[in-house]
Amino acid sequence: MMDAFKLILRLDRYANLELERSYWLSGDNADEGPSYCLECAKKELAKGLGEYISGGEYAQECDTYEQCYMCAKMLDYHLTDHGAEREYDWLKYKRFKRLGRDNAYMVARILDSDHHNKKYMRLAERAAKGIKR
Ligand SMILES: [Zn+2]
Repeated sequence: MMDAFKLILRLDRYANLELERSYWLSGDNADEGPSYCLECAKKELAKGLGEYISGGEYAQECDTYEQCYMCAKMLDYHLTDHGAEREYDWLKYKRFKRLGRDNAYMVARILDSDHHNKKYMRLAERAAKGIKR
């Protein structure tokens, strides 16, 4: 059995996604709920939806994968325990004959949330078999 760190590295290398971190709008009359890519955050700020842009320093901890509220671009994320469990439920019956890059990234985040979780390890091992050499 491979160790969790090696599996995560392998899946992340395969995913090869350079994801932007998430940003949100802050200050008076800002809705801090939605996450944006920097470009969309700037556009929303220009519309007067908030006073300044926050975020971008680290990947957000999320209950699901992270994407820009405006353009739906995938953003960098970590999963909370609840989020990992939810995404695991979504992927547990999935066949990884051809592992998609987004799925590789998500499986890596699921395992990254708990390196000692056996079912997450099994999911990651199964996903890693779908990596095209
Ligand atoms: Zn965007």
